Amino acid sequence: MSKYEYDLFVIGAGSGGVRAARLAASLGKKVAVAEEHRPGGTCVIRGCVPKKYLVYGAEFGKAIKESAGYGWTVKGASFDWGALRDEIQIEVSRLSNIYENILEKNGADLFKERAEFVDAHTLRLTTSGREITAKTILIATGGRPWSPDIPGGHHVITSDDAFHLDALPERIMVIGGGYIACEFAGIFAGLGAKTTQVYRGDKLLRGFDDDVREAVDKGQALNGIDVKYGQSPISIKKIGGGLKVTFEDGIQIATDLVMMATGRVPNTRGLGLEKAGVKMDDKGAVIVNAFSKTNKANIYAVGDVTDRVNLTPVAIREGMAFVETVFKNNKQAYDRTDIASAVFTQPPVGSVGLSEEEARIKHKDVKIYTTDFRPMKNLLSGSEHRCFMKMITAGKKERVVGLHIVGDYAGEIIQAAAIAVKAGLTKADFDATCAVHPTLAEELVTL
Ligand code: NDP
Repeated sequence: MSKYEYDLFVIGAGSGGVRAARLAASLGKKVAVAEEHRPGGTCVIRGCVPKKYLVYGAEFGKAIKESAGYGWTVKGASFDWGALRDEIQIEVSRLSNIYENILEKNGADLFKERAEFVDAHTLRLTTSGREITAKTILIATGGRPWSPDIPGGHHVITSDDAFHLDALPERIMVIGGGYIACEFAGIFAGLGAKTTQVYRGDKLLRGFDDDVREAVDKGQALNGIDVKYGQSPISIKKIGGGLKVTFEDGIQIATDLVMMATGRVPNTRGLGLEKAGVKMDDKGAVIVNAFSKTNKANIYAVGDVTDRVNLTPVAIREGMAFVETVFKNNKQAYDRTDIASAVFTQPPVGSVGLSEEEARIKHKDVKIYTTDFRPMKNLLSGSEHRCFMKMITAGKKERVVGLHIVGDYAGEIIQAAAIAVKAGLTKADFDATCAVHPTLAEELVTL
């Protein structure tokens, strides 16, 4: 008989937490999960899933405009924000219920309340006050939006709020140049709002390959987004029904709504980690080793709360590796090389492996292959958007170490191409593969 009530207690029913809980429970372990909001976490409730639906919504608007080149006449087209918003929330609720049912079906207990540490083996549920002990504890509390503290900062929204707006604003300003800022600027512009994106740097998407960043800059501009570079807001004031944003250089811009997309921080505030003796870094991220283990032998952490690679599929893989390590006696560290990702701008970005800048630091004999063309679909639709592809190879054998696409379906294409990059294939392997014609992706084998 264990001296603990549960073999595993998971704090947070997001992507990483639910996967770990479900797998451990399916092995016959006694598992509890605590979730203070709705099961599903950032990805399902206020991230990837509802965001992608908004992107689809924006794409329909674009398709309506561009369909004239294909012979269509669309009369009286209009957009109803409330209808899309509510449909998305219905779908989000359906998915959240699926997450809940998965836990139940596998025999895990779900507590719909916040859990905080009492000590390294004890958690207190803050609504009921109940204290629960567990042999192993997994912290999977994710992240939350962070905004700079500026005068009038309370007037802004973050991506969490964007899904619930009463109305689509006529004018919106999105602050930031990362994933969330670029995606939401594209969404708002695509749905018809006059959109300004303000970024403190000189090219969007810092960290991505430089050519990709340039292509995204051009794409945002073609979508009618007014991107202002080299500026940061210093104050926001309410004027009439709108807002006035003042920038470092004194410029003032009037808008109806400001969305801060200035990054996310690990969700560890008030979790009582100090009571359990768990160490955090200066950003509040739980410090873990390669096996997601904290400095306390029985406490682990996966996903955004560890601030490693903050992507849903990575959190899931970390959750799976945790279960292998702790409950299947099969020590596994998730390999974080060549993780592909997409930024759902319009057109989207798909990226795997190294940027050219990183490749030149890491490897000798770096070769670059690029193509930049107007996709055939756009020739009739009249869209000025282009497709950019870049392959980066290293060494005499020309192993493909980086692949980057900015163009329609880039997220879909990069998922398949990432298999080849992860497998260590060479440019010659790509060249030996027969093209699928006519597609965008065929360019990858004819570079
Ligand atoms: P990012 O870290 O990607 O971007 C934050 C942006 O805010 C950067 O452009 C940064 O500028 C800017 N910024 C930071 N501080 C300030 C400040 N004080 N004033 C003005 N600007 C500031 O964070 P996101 O919130 O966009 O995304 C968080 C993470 O979530 C991503 O890194 C990604 O891992 C994940 N994500 C993934 C998605 C996907 O896979 N499609 C979609 C959404 C999120 P600078 O560049 O100069 O630092």
